[in-house]
Amino acid sequence: MTIEEIKQHIRTVPDFPTQGIMFKDLTTAFKNAECMKFFEDAMYNLYKDKGITKIIGIESRGFIMAPILGNKLGVGFVPVRKKGKLPAETVEVSYTKEYGVDTIQLHKDALTADDVVLIHDDLLATGGTMKAACELVRKFGVKKIYVNFLVELDFLNGRNVFDNDIKVDSLIHY
Ligand code: AMP
Repeated sequence: MTIEEIKQHIRTVPDFPTQGIMFKDLTTAFKNAECMKFFEDAMYNLYKDKGITKIIGIESRGFIMAPILGNKLGVGFVPVRKKGKLPAETVEVSYTKEYGVDTIQLHKDALTADDVVLIHDDLLATGGTMKAACELVRKFGVKKIYVNFLVELDFLNGRNVFDNDIKVDSLIHY
């Protein structure tokens, strides 16, 4: 499958969840086995030689591909969740969204300083969510952070919010 063919399986929904947003709906790609295989293989090829020790998925659309890649790389999966969902002791970061403030959390024992971490989400828009996730992961003093998206909206320049030592890769660009 080519990137252009994959794009034909991604549905654009105008004005969701609010007026003016062109929402990239990946469920139409996820239901296609060839697209899923493409995502899995492309992500694996990007990260197979990086010494990744943990894959983090961001709630909730990051929970789809992160564990699949984790299995393929032979490493564990860790969820970043919205405040109040994780049952044990947590570490958290708050960040400003268009409307109000959001807080994301990791369990205190989720990572160690020896980890090489890949943080995955489905889509990069402004980068606010992923930047907060990187700050959260930095609190553990990990060795290296990689960031991955299936889709990047290039015109929003979201990748500019990340520090230079964080490697950002996306499979599909609009
Ligand atoms: P941001 O923090 O602005 O990069 O927003 C990223 C998060 O919002 C991701 O978890 C996406 O799932 C979601 N998101 C933002 N904009 C869109 C869009 N146009 N289409 C699909 N998902 C989006």
